Amino acid sequence: MLETTIAGSLPKPAWLAKPKVLWAPWAAEGAALAEAKRDATVLTLKEQEDIGIDIVSDGEMSRQHFVHGFLENIAGIDFAMRVKMGIRNNRYEADVPTVTAALSRKGSVHRTEAAIARAHTKRRLKFTLPGPMTIIDTIADRFYGDRVKMAMRFAELLNEEARELEDLGCDVIQFDEPAFNVYMDEAREWGVAALERAAQGLTCATAVHICYGYGIKANIDWKSSLGAEWTQYEKIFPALAQSKIGQVSLECINSRVPVRLLGLLKGKDVLLGAIDVANDQAETPERVAEVLKSALPYVAPEKLFPCTNCGMAPMDRKLSRDKLKALVAGASLLRAELQGK
Ligand code: ZN
Repeated sequence: MLETTIAGSLPKPAWLAKPKVLWAPWAAEGAALAEAKRDATVLTLKEQEDIGIDIVSDGEMSRQHFVHGFLENIAGIDFAMRVKMGIRNNRYEADVPTVTAALSRKGSVHRTEAAIARAHTKRRLKFTLPGPMTIIDTIADRFYGDRVKMAMRFAELLNEEARELEDLGCDVIQFDEPAFNVYMDEAREWGVAALERAAQGLTCATAVHICYGYGIKANIDWKSSLGAEWTQYEKIFPALAQSKIGQVSLECINSRVPVRLLGLLKGKDVLLGAIDVANDQAETPERVAEVLKSALPYVAPEKLFPCTNCGMAPMDRKLSRDKLKALVAGASLLRAELQGK
């Protein structure tokens, strides 16, 4: 019980990409870049193992951004046709590429790094993909003329990719859907259905990561406008609870998400964020244990997975290691307490 895992990304070494920035430019190109990605993937797995993370990830070492990393190998998208678009309900503007023709996968998107990761760890391996709703919120459309139709097409492509990742031996496929708590009505109306389409036929564990966004000022400003309690999840948890997705990953520590909302996720595994990804101090194991314990009235210990609040890509590398150590130590404290009873 209390098996530890991470939301997804980890900081990249300086010899792979520029440290501490989002959308970090690569530090190499061509064959040297491919080799640097490979080395960083092996290294991050080894570090997670040494720290004691039970369900490890490739740390997203091979992609620059969690959405566009997937889009880069999809036909039908014009990356030169950049459009300034308000995303996450106009919380901020981004330069996004445009869908100009029918979408299809040019081939496998993540096979290389997934195969490398699988070959270098015997632990359970999680692999992350963007969710359909978050993708269509991060791209302009000059072809489908219908957001839902385009999302369902992306869901089909994600499903092809996810099945391939499962065949390669990934144990958990996670879809990242930060857009869910921005468009709560749409999430219920079609977002969860699109997610299920993306996960259709998978027999490995399936997860969705939702969160309020980290690291940029627009997100911090938005969160400060949400009041003392963040209750957006109240609207989408019942739909997720009824879905075929097995696990839900969300933030908890230092957030204003009321822990009682976890009661709405009956039957699901909960990957609970007990590590803040937006401050510069490692948690104490005691604090991690306290956060995890606060969830126990709502989630059985067998269904509770200590996790990070969100990805850690722009963080200092040593800080991220110290935080993961605190996560493992905190989980172990609580495990000892529960087993002592
Ligand atoms: Zn997140």
